[in-house]
Amino acid sequence: MATLEYFQFPYMSDNYGVLIHSPDTGETASVDCGDAAATLAALKEKQWSLTHIWATHHHADHVAGLAELKQHSNCHVTGPNGIDGVDNNVGDGNSFEFAGVTVETIHTPGHTKDMINYHLPTEKTVFTGDTLFSLGCGRLFEGDANMMWDSLNKLMVLPADTTVYSSHEYTEANAAFAISVDPDNKALQQRVEQIKSLRAQNKPTVPSLLSEELATNPFLRASDALIRQQLQMADSTDAEVFAEIRARKDNF
Ligand code: ZN
Ligand code: FE
Repeated sequence: MATLEYFQFPYMSDNYGVLIHSPDTGETASVDCGDAAATLAALKEKQWSLTHIWATHHHADHVAGLAELKQHSNCHVTGPNGIDGVDNNVGDGNSFEFAGVTVETIHTPGHTKDMINYHLPTEKTVFTGDTLFSLGCGRLFEGDANMMWDSLNKLMVLPADTTVYSSHEYTEANAAFAISVDPDNKALQQRVEQIKSLRAQNKPTVPSLLSEELATNPFLRASDALIRQQLQMADSTDAEVFAEIRARKDNF
């Protein structure tokens, strides 16, 4: 079975890009491409050549470098409808092959309506764009809380040992909020300390494991009894609890 290599690199103020490379075929995919120069520098560092781009959503910090990279490498671009330069439009439940590895696409609207996440089941990796962050979730720019809750549920049912690559280093601020709504969660308390220590050394907190997110990310924990007690929402639906947590984060 083919095994892929992953190279994560920062760009702009707090974005992460990831290159995915197959040593067997020499192919390299870039998840998003907000800054062509940063992607080209990462490719040069690894001595990999770009063959594919997988776009998550239409925001400039994710696709602004697309035209330049496509011109540079003639790469094949997969992404949602509506983004200039996409060769392969994908929606919910589609799949394609990359270097002999199956990539499944999951539509996770909420932050934007077009958001696509990329899941590699045999690799146990998922690329969640601005839907699911370490200890957070994306702001609701185009969708509503019900839509985002449904989207997060599509990610929550993936195998818990899946590695979650998200697109921003927001974790320290997310951690401060998370502990405010879930102060007695021991796993969260420990994770907050780990995050502080990583950030103090300027190390990334991304990727994380889905199992960690399920145990500590308040946006995935709307059904949790302690959080419901904290919010005084014992009788509300999970979607209502999620909406309240999202609203509190917006005002945090
Ligand atoms: Zn975005
Ligand atoms: Fe973004």
